[in-house]
Amino acid sequence: MLKLENVETYYGNIHALKNISLEINDGEIVTVIGANGAGKTTTLKTICGLVRASSGKIYFKGIDITNHDTADIVEAGIAMVPEGRRIFPRMTVLENLQLGAYLNKNRAEIKKDMERVFELFPILKDRLKQIAGTLSGGEQQMLAIGRALMAKPKLLLLDEPSMGLAPMIVQNIFDIIKEINRKGTTILLVEQNAQMALSIAHKGYVMETGNIVLQDTAENLLCNEKVKKAYLGE
Ligand code: ATP
Repeated sequence: MLKLENVETYYGNIHALKNISLEINDGEIVTVIGANGAGKTTTLKTICGLVRASSGKIYFKGIDITNHDTADIVEAGIAMVPEGRRIFPRMTVLENLQLGAYLNKNRAEIKKDMERVFELFPILKDRLKQIAGTLSGGEQQMLAIGRALMAKPKLLLLDEPSMGLAPMIVQNIFDIIKEINRKGTTILLVEQNAQMALSIAHKGYVMETGNIVLQDTAENLLCNEKVKKAYLGE
């Protein structure tokens, strides 16, 4: 479904992605783990066309999307849930969800899609009129994921959904990510919480200072000595 081939990204002189190659198959949950500043967010932004790849190729369903406009990439079927949620805090829950569906002009379809979001996140239905900035952190994360799902992505990019949330809420969010995947959406999950990410992923990549240093099944990464020491606190 998604293939990155030798992707390089710079911020001025900072070489943020160094020869990154990765592959995600249809139906998978793939995680990229790594410390702060490793290049995980930049990987997602480069896929979405939010920052430019200076070289390398990105293919989505076999089509070259490298450095295409973000709007075209969303239309092709990729949606991102950004780090720190980035919901529209002064708008209502309903308005945030409607904005996620901005590509869709069919009201009946939008309503159906929203019902599907409510099946995953019933709390959002109870809070439709609430100003989004007054939701709890966990609810805002749910709204950010719900908003992305309103674009009906084939591939959902999630940037640190566990950030700043209590362990119980994190578990809840990860159960829902698994459910979204079970219902047919492929997922690329970027996380500092390696334990949680590897517990739901099929496959994982480890990033260090702009490089992919390790890749394997999630199961193997969970018992890899280096991963255990560096990322699982064992
Ligand atoms: P985090 O978990 O903190 O988001 P990350 O693994 O996602 O970390 P990136 O945010 O992708 O890492 O950052 C990769 C490198 O690029 C870091 O050295 C970071 O300082 C640098 N960087 C990120 N964004 C910018 C920017 N807008 N301008 C300049 N440098 C940047």
